[in-house]
Amino acid sequence: MFFGKMITLRTAEEVEILRENALLVSKTLAEVGKKVRPGVTTLELDKLAETFIRDHGAVPGFLGYDDFPNTLCLSVNDVVVHGIPSRYELKEGDILSVDCGTRYKGYYGDSAYTFAVGEVSEEARQLLRVTRASLFKGIAQAVEGNRVGDISAAVQGHVEAFGYGIVREMVGHGVGRNMHEKPDIPNYGKRGNGKRLREGMVICIEPMINEGTQEVFLENDGWTLRTKDGKRSAHYELTVCIKKGQPDILSTFEFIEQN
Ligand code: MG
Ligand code: MG
Repeated sequence: MFFGKMITLRTAEEVEILRENALLVSKTLAEVGKKVRPGVTTLELDKLAETFIRDHGAVPGFLGYDDFPNTLCLSVNDVVVHGIPSRYELKEGDILSVDCGTRYKGYYGDSAYTFAVGEVSEEARQLLRVTRASLFKGIAQAVEGNRVGDISAAVQGHVEAFGYGIVREMVGHGVGRNMHEKPDIPNYGKRGNGKRLREGMVICIEPMINEGTQEVFLENDGWTLRTKDGKRSAHYELTVCIKKGQPDILSTFEFIEQN
């Protein structure tokens, strides 16, 4: 047995369950997004997401995962990922990354979106725009016959032109009966390198991009990952099933962006 090492190819039925998870995560992110405004605490957003997920017959995928204490990872400004919901009140000009997971019918969903809180600076808007676009550059490479490095190089090539730092410590991943499966999907790498992408692989692509240095540090709480220079970081994540010709994107930002 090679648990944790093999790349699993999903059956059509499994892909449909993963899609149900991915759509529920997408809708949860949109529900959260409706409430993102100055004065709201991150804990309030977390509770709203937990209720929404449970009302749809699923359970929060992150809650209790490696003992994570909440439903959402809510990462403000210089927090890269894994921010713990708190009494912090969002302020005008903040950026807030919302990472959400579900577990439903034995499988996981996992996607993320970075929101602007009220009016944000042009620098912040550019970071969000470029990070989001880099995710779609990566997704365009997520087809049968390409390699993981094709995704990585596409993300890297897009963001580095802006002088941004690519977080090395955290990467995208396969998703299925576990939240994090093989293969790793780094946001940096070389075209033509890495594992070959095969039809039926389901992966999460998730650029984590810093306005300044790529260097990060872990806070004493053991979760919160921050940029070393205190500059902003953005994070977008979607789940994709590898197919021939074009990727099947299981999660979506449509619910968020039609608000
Ligand atoms: Mg995630
Ligand atoms: Mg992920």
